[in-house]
Amino acid sequence: MIKANKHRIQTYIESLARFTATPGNGTTRLSYSKEDAAARRYIKQEMANLGLSVREDAVGNIYGKLEGALKNAPAVIIGSHFDSVPNGGSFDGPAGIIAGLEVAALFQEYGLEPQYPLEVIAMIEEEGSRFGGGVLGSRMIAGQITPADLYEMKDSIGLSAAAAMEKLGFNAADICSARRTGNDVKAFLELHIEQGPLLEEGAQDVGIVQMIVGMTEIRITVRGRSGHAGTTPMEGRADALAAAVSILNELPGIASDESDLPVLTVGKLDVLPNGANVIPNQVVFTVDIRSANSDTIKRILRKIDKLVADAERPGISLSIDELLYAEPVEMSANIQSLLIGNCEKLGLRYRKMVSGAGHDAMIFAGFTDTGLIFVPSKDGISHTPEEWTDYAQLQKGIEVAFETIVQLTEAKEKSSNTEM
Ligand SMILES: [Zn+2]
Repeated sequence: MIKANKHRIQTYIESLARFTATPGNGTTRLSYSKEDAAARRYIKQEMANLGLSVREDAVGNIYGKLEGALKNAPAVIIGSHFDSVPNGGSFDGPAGIIAGLEVAALFQEYGLEPQYPLEVIAMIEEEGSRFGGGVLGSRMIAGQITPADLYEMKDSIGLSAAAAMEKLGFNAADICSARRTGNDVKAFLELHIEQGPLLEEGAQDVGIVQMIVGMTEIRITVRGRSGHAGTTPMEGRADALAAAVSILNELPGIASDESDLPVLTVGKLDVLPNGANVIPNQVVFTVDIRSANSDTIKRILRKIDKLVADAERPGISLSIDELLYAEPVEMSANIQSLLIGNCEKLGLRYRKMVSGAGHDAMIFAGFTDTGLIFVPSKDGISHTPEEWTDYAQLQKGIEVAFETIVQLTEAKEKSSNTEM
């Protein structure tokens, strides 16, 4: 049985963690930043050290390729993203890239030749921390983003994604060349930290994701009428916040009334003009709804529509905008059964699970066979400097990924002594 190299895995993680804008306070690595450029140099160097042929696509995703024996065959891709949230951890994203590097290292060390080419990928802007929306690197690969979109997306200082990538030498206008399809990608495998407590609570080594939940984000705007807090009588006010609260109060109950455990979160709320002595004339808040069942999401949305309509009254008007709608996505049944078989072969404890977080895998699943492996997160936490996965746990997950990549690429030993 081939063992992954725990020391090498640790070195990769610790090395990538150095590329942060907030040393001593977690990983802050926004796409196309100085830290991105430095991490990019490191990843490309490590890929080259492993004998991979290295390239970056037009928008800055990094590939390292190990040619297969079959000519012009579709590739098996393994990887994840290397951007982070502000003050995030060292594992969210890098764990999956390092899984790819370690798998490639094991191929070289043990003289394995893939029939189908193996590509390790490091993607940009999964978190959406700089330009919003998220999974941008994979959405560009899937052909879901146009050059015009990249000019429209702005960071907090108003710089467009197109301009930011051009500063690093990439070319938004050439985004089409970054496109991959089911014709040239045979399969995609991502290893990611769980970011939740289930594996640790169950003392399990590996999570095999069956599906990624559907997610919807809407923005509700409530418009009322300002007035002086002291001189405007209570009667006849059009207080936007009071109207918003009538909706906010009902929202958690709408989710908990459903039997299949959807989750609903209001994470952002702006009150305007936000003065202590002014009646609010506008309130804007987001609602994030996730469920494994798209009918549940649609039912919740209909109930919210009704709540919003019922909140209309003289002086108060409301509107709803949809910011994101993603259907639940199933992971490949074939890859799930390979993963299960490999966990059993390696004697690892595993569980099947649903991912409540979005990942690049959900975009790849739109055009190729896709698998997603989770490894345990200590105390279930992530997106903080304390985010942690034991290297021994990461090693186990990577060994499952390695066995699965050997099968997907139909790798063979280079020497012809297989009859011995
Ligand atoms: Zn991630």
